[in-house]
Amino acid sequence: MRVTLLGTGTSQGVPVIGCTCEVCRSVDYRDKRLRVSVHLQVGGKSIIIDTGPDFRQQVLRERIKTLDALVFTHEHKDHTAGLDDIRAYNFSQHKDMPIYAEERVLGQLKKEFAYIFSDYKYPGIPKVQLHPIDNQPFEVEGVPFIPIRVMHYKLPVYGYRVGDFTYITDANYISEEEKEKVRGSKVIVLNALRQEPHISHFSLQEAINLLEELQPEKAYLTHISHLLGQHREVEPQLPDFIRLGYDGLQIDL
Ligand SMILES: [Zn+2]
Ligand SMILES: [Zn+2]
Ligand SMILES: [Zn+2]
Repeated sequence: MRVTLLGTGTSQGVPVIGCTCEVCRSVDYRDKRLRVSVHLQVGGKSIIIDTGPDFRQQVLRERIKTLDALVFTHEHKDHTAGLDDIRAYNFSQHKDMPIYAEERVLGQLKKEFAYIFSDYKYPGIPKVQLHPIDNQPFEVEGVPFIPIRVMHYKLPVYGYRVGDFTYITDANYISEEEKEKVRGSKVIVLNALRQEPHISHFSLQEAINLLEELQPEKAYLTHISHLLGQHREVEPQLPDFIRLGYDGLQIDL
């Protein structure tokens, strides 16, 4: 299985428009963070979790020629805004795109992309096939996924475990029961927004505490804000098994 971090930035991305802080001015490629998304190559399938506003740029950069399915964590715009660009795969693969998400998220996609779901469809719009999920294991085109319920302030969001890999973004709370599903993962990708506490995201220290408790072999942080600091300055302060994610990072497991 190969995991590629397509984006590792918070909702505004890094650099932030108009900001002149040292992170936003950094020339280090690891400080250029598109909105969060991850590509999984597993069981012969190509699957992406979340299609943020940078989706098109990300799949071009990684030369993702085929896409078998999309899975969504939640409905926030930084995770869904790029959905229109799946049209390219509809055209090249001659089929509808399977989308897996919970009912609430599918409902929000129907509102925000009303034209995709209208009765009279304009030619050339995205074609999708909706698969509602709940907090039970499910298969994405034959690949087993285990949903992990986490809280994003008051919004319930799903993280996912696929084999030995767990991906959790936009969370600041996970119950003991849900932690059990994560335990034993070799690799965890977890959100860590910034140094200071935040109402809906883990801070750096909160993410480190949780990862030390869960004990994966390796962990990578994502959904990073310019307030976290420069990659080269923050990473050396982390425990060895925890690294900062960066756009384009590939993890083989
Ligand atoms: Zn987000
Ligand atoms: Zn900045
Ligand atoms: Zn969010």
